[in-house]
Amino acid sequence: MASDDKELKYYVGQDFGSFDNPCHQSHFSTFGLCGMQFDLKYINGFPEEIRRLNTEIGTVDHQGIESYHCKWYLSPNSPIDHVVNGIVAYKNDKTQEEKYERARQVFDGELERRLTDPSKAPIKQVQNDPKKAIKKACDDGFEMLDAYCNCNNEDLILTIDDVVMCEVDVKMKIEGIWFEGTIDQIRLAPHTIKKYGNRFTWDEFEACKNEKDFSIYCVDAKTGIMIPGYYGLINSLQLRLYSVGIQCGTILINNNSRCLGIYPEKGFIYHTRKLQRHKRNYTNPKTKQKFKPGDLKGDPIITVFNSEKELVDSFSRFKKIITSIYNGIKLGVYIPNIYVCDSFCNVAETCTTFSGKHIEDDVIKAAQEVAETMEL
Ligand code: SF4
Repeated sequence: MASDDKELKYYVGQDFGSFDNPCHQSHFSTFGLCGMQFDLKYINGFPEEIRRLNTEIGTVDHQGIESYHCKWYLSPNSPIDHVVNGIVAYKNDKTQEEKYERARQVFDGELERRLTDPSKAPIKQVQNDPKKAIKKACDDGFEMLDAYCNCNNEDLILTIDDVVMCEVDVKMKIEGIWFEGTIDQIRLAPHTIKKYGNRFTWDEFEACKNEKDFSIYCVDAKTGIMIPGYYGLINSLQLRLYSVGIQCGTILINNNSRCLGIYPEKGFIYHTRKLQRHKRNYTNPKTKQKFKPGDLKGDPIITVFNSEKELVDSFSRFKKIITSIYNGIKLGVYIPNIYVCDSFCNVAETCTTFSGKHIEDDVIKAAQEVAETMEL
């Protein structure tokens, strides 16, 4: 029944939250949204019933972006400082055109293959007119990837060459709990590139990382239509957790671990949909801003925190939340959040199948266990 044995083992042992069985931040988010969904997916291992079109587009665009920056350079004989995912990616002499071509090859056919894969859960949005929906998804996905790879234009302050690490695995211990995740991108600040360039070996990085004008940014690339609002941003754990991980955790590169030991100066979402261009005249109904065909849809940067101080201050607030979510998972009281059922749940059918008995038994049993512990 388990959809992914690796995920399941995280939550069934006593050592959940240990170095070998770390928590994944996305599982934490699921528990925060709906305990029942967490139970169904990560404790019972029920597979997802539906997939989301935007998630699929995002997955394949991420693969293309990663290929642009990273996989191109992988070679079994490369010494660590000349392999990817690393600060020295740009020591490689591949041209931007070659990297773009590689990203395009990874994208080509892959999204269509995923959308039509009969072994995976169906996608709601392609049920009615699959041909048309798949073509539009592929066009949208490619437009974003294409814009991303060719976004060195004057409209944007940041350019693609600011990226010095991409899809970096990170592991960190926060409040005694081990976490893991993947950081989409680490970028250099424009003023840092101006002074130091964007070509570093690890030794060079170590030598200048504590200089006053050396700054990095932690970035989460998003492709979805919905963007978080004000409260979504101030309550966003993911980027803050990863940014603290960059400072005190371990990043894994080709099975080698390194500690970067530097706080990012900024954390932001890079919303690739904003890199698409208007196809006709358009006036934003809220801001009244006017766009012509060919104009960028907007600035892709959505700031989550704007200074090291802001990160450190806001993260101290998150420590309590992290501990309470962790304790909640350990207690095993997986309460259903029926108020969010329709909007995001991809195990709703399974949940409905078990409604009543399954929920009741689980919650009552867990509550009894908690009560017994408290008596002691
Ligand atoms: S259907 Fe609702 S209560 Fe059930 S798992 Fe999904 S979100 Fe939670």
